[in-house]
Amino acid sequence: MTNFKNMVDSYGSPLFAYDFDYMKNQYEELKEAFRARKSLICYAVKANSNLSVISHFAKMGAGADCVSIGEVKRAIMAGIPKYKIIFSGVGKSDSEIKEALKLDILMINLESEAEMTRVELVAKELNMKARISVRVNPNVDPLTHPYISTGLHKNKFGVDINTAKRMYIKAKNSEFLEAVGVHFHIGSQLTKLAPIAESIKIVSSFLRNLKALKINIKFFDVGGGIGIDYEGEKTIELYDYAQSIFMNLTGLDITVICEPGRFLVGNSGYFVTKVLYEKQNEDKRFIIVDGAMNDLVRPTLYQAYHKIEVLNDNKELSKADVVGPICESGDYFAKDRELPQTAHNDLLVIKSAGAYGFTMSSNYNTRGRVAEIAIEGNETRIIRKRESFDNMIALEKDYLCN
Ligand SMILES: *Cc1c(COP(=O)(O)O)cnc(C)c1O
Repeated sequence: MTNFKNMVDSYGSPLFAYDFDYMKNQYEELKEAFRARKSLICYAVKANSNLSVISHFAKMGAGADCVSIGEVKRAIMAGIPKYKIIFSGVGKSDSEIKEALKLDILMINLESEAEMTRVELVAKELNMKARISVRVNPNVDPLTHPYISTGLHKNKFGVDINTAKRMYIKAKNSEFLEAVGVHFHIGSQLTKLAPIAESIKIVSSFLRNLKALKINIKFFDVGGGIGIDYEGEKTIELYDYAQSIFMNLTGLDITVICEPGRFLVGNSGYFVTKVLYEKQNEDKRFIIVDGAMNDLVRPTLYQAYHKIEVLNDNKELSKADVVGPICESGDYFAKDRELPQTAHNDLLVIKSAGAYGFTMSSNYNTRGRVAEIAIEGNETRIIRKRESFDNMIALEKDYLCN
């Protein structure tokens, strides 16, 4: 078991620690499930965009799914080959499109006709052929938290099938566009296969329609969203997942792309925080820790559950809220959780913090982003320094008028 105490002694508190061996294992299990077909796993960089994490996946042969030009540049810097990079997202600026085209990445994933017009225009300016895919919104309910549901028409993502068809026909007739992929992504933390299977059916049948129109797509991109176990929930079996894709693609020469983020990194990560003190308000018990919602916002943003382990020998449990120092009532990691009595400097380990943890962190309350640590074999190493006060004011201080 990882020695979090030593880690905090070396790198300070709070911190994020990621088990790189766990990530590798997840990647290999998924790759194994997809063994029967040509496949490319494009790691969804937004889940955890630390350069060392991306580089770890690059070495395994992964591609990257990026949602900003910043993420595209991170992926390239971390060693992901350009021909394995996808640029997704519902809104891209002309300068982002231009940069992506110049970088010659695998494809730009389009989410509207208006976006297609912009991409075509920019490609024309550069006198290039832009490789594109279209994100189809299959209008199925992914059965997940509404904030991370994306596959319904009421969500802002993708286009309906009829619009998609128009877009592919337009691309076929354009000198500056080349449609190479079809894409969907219906949501995140999906624990049921049925909505994905339904989407696969809809989008693969659309693919066959395109084929009949002599529009030949090379990549069938099933997005990400595979759910993970946060509190003991049963989630999607990889074998069933792969089968539900393959059985709809028989007879088609197509590469399957999958864009997992959370699945690859979520349960690799720990947020380690120190107890400052306890406090009792009437019959309510609070454990106040040095980490806060600016470090890990999931509990308050998504009402997410994260397991918490207290590193001390006390066995007697009672209910407590685990809260941070930030001036918001939403600043909590757990509510009414059965936890042992704690003392100053005891460590709390918050589990499943590898995805959408650090990447969603902020400097709210002028708190520096915490250090990030890699665990690999029996070794730990720092992969991002803790932010200092100087880091936080660097872009403001020159404008201070006295
Ligand atoms: C966020 C996102 C992903 C990854 O989602 P996970 O739930 O972390 O697997 C994949 N593809 C697209 C287009 C995304 O927006």
